[in-house]
Amino acid sequence: MTEQIEKKIKYIDSHCHINSTLKESKIEVTLEEWEKFSKTFPDSFESCINVNFTPELIEFGKIFTRNTDNVYSAVGIHPLNADLWSEDVKKTIIEMKKEDDDACKDNIKDTPNRIVGIGECGLDYSHWNKIEKDIQKSAFIEQIKLAHQLNLTLVIHTREAEVDTWEIFEEYLPKDLNVHIHCFTGTKEFTSKVLEKYPNVYFGFTGVCTFKSAKSIRESMAVVPLDRIVVETDSPYLAPVPFRGKISNSGMIPHTIKVMAETMNITEEEMFEHCYENTKRLYKL
Ligand SMILES: [Zn+2]
Repeated sequence: MTEQIEKKIKYIDSHCHINSTLKESKIEVTLEEWEKFSKTFPDSFESCINVNFTPELIEFGKIFTRNTDNVYSAVGIHPLNADLWSEDVKKTIIEMKKEDDDACKDNIKDTPNRIVGIGECGLDYSHWNKIEKDIQKSAFIEQIKLAHQLNLTLVIHTREAEVDTWEIFEEYLPKDLNVHIHCFTGTKEFTSKVLEKYPNVYFGFTGVCTFKSAKSIRESMAVVPLDRIVVETDSPYLAPVPFRGKISNSGMIPHTIKVMAETMNITEEEMFEHCYENTKRLYKL
């Protein structure tokens, strides 16, 4: 890519975890260290959505949204922590959103908590998740309802649970709700089914799509229209090639974009643009 194009391009990492990214990178988890760290990203890095998925993180995430200009926040309970979902958590989220609404700013960046999404929530049936399926399902359904109630984008994590995820979609997911299915690794069939029924569901792709072995993910990507695709790192996890196995961070997005552009047969510049516009539309930024 020419330098000239690079200067023009802006990108948003639509899903990352700042706390664990710093921790895994052996950096102290503080505001100052994040500011230093994010300066090492390419100039085209504009902002990221920091996903806070435990009660502790939901509280801690405030230091970034109140003191930086490059962090938004999604708040909820991850399926690996589904037993932590409670009325108290729900109350906290409602209060934080109210605080944002009361700030009554035209620009979400001027609100204290910058809450743009609920989640990540969903179902994770991989063998290391010891949380019972029923507990996962009920936490997921509650968070779908909360996203709808607060008019926020729903961030979904679904792993090895396509059948039950679809069942919950059919019963509980409002057709017009904005949804980000994050780190999408699902089948082509599931992708098509979702696209057909839900006009505001977007599919997020991480560094996984750059792995040689991820042919099926690229096949699923190929059926997603260009206005329904977003890029994300899910950092500190899933670093793209050539960093596979390393700790990922929002600075690595251009490597994922490159493979996405190749898969969709467009230029990198066009892919950057689509992902940027789509992320802004999806999260009302
Ligand atoms: Zn995540």
